[in-house]
Amino acid sequence: MSGVPGGGLAKGLAVTLKTMTKRAHTHQYPDVEPDLPPRSRGVIALLEENCTVCMLCARECPDWCIYIDSHKEEVVVPGAARPRQRNVLDRFAIDYSLCMYCGICVEVCPFDALYWSPEFEYAEYDLRDLLHEKDRLGEWMPTVPAPPAHDPNGEPAKEETTAAKKAAAPARTAAPRPGPTSGPGPASRPGPAAPPAAPPAE
Ligand code: SF4
Ligand code: SF4
Repeated sequence: MSGVPGGGLAKGLAVTLKTMTKRAHTHQYPDVEPDLPPRSRGVIALLEENCTVCMLCARECPDWCIYIDSHKEEVVVPGAARPRQRNVLDRFAIDYSLCMYCGICVEVCPFDALYWSPEFEYAEYDLRDLLHEKDRLGEWMPTVPAPPAHDPNGEPAKEETTAAKKAAAPARTAAPRPGPTSGPGPASRPGPAAPPAAPPAE
């Protein structure tokens, strides 16, 4: 058709007409909110209380865009011979200008401190503002969707079994302390052993 005069125009108009009759796939964002799946990888939320500063996420991040600072603190445990040490999180930040949303950090965290949230509206005019510190990462937590319901045919979760066992166990009651008249009193208790007799003087 390219050899015929006006063939190109007719071809172009044909494409236009064909496209006009098809359903549009564009979303009119921001006027219309996109209907995203609940497990979309929008932003990573931090549950600070669960973080033990094990550094696994920062080590495994392929982009090195997780920054963690911490210090050690002594905790006195009643009954322990020595005070224990625990890590205290000072800084946890993710640079979303570098993050490639691979999800490795969320997968490797052994303490369930990182979660995906479908929120995505955090574009910035300044690239440096895409560095989210721990307070901002924590603010995403309420937007994390609840976990899917447990499969009714699957085995119950370990936590549920443990909780059910605890609930079923008879409540431990403190043994009654012997009173001054009902039990053996101090007089009947064995006293300290008598010291060994001194050897006879020669
Ligand atoms: S999603 Fe991937 S790139 Fe982004 S912070 Fe986590 S591990 Fe790093
Ligand atoms: S892997 Fe989890 S617990 Fe360990 S430092 Fe990262 S967020 Fe904290």
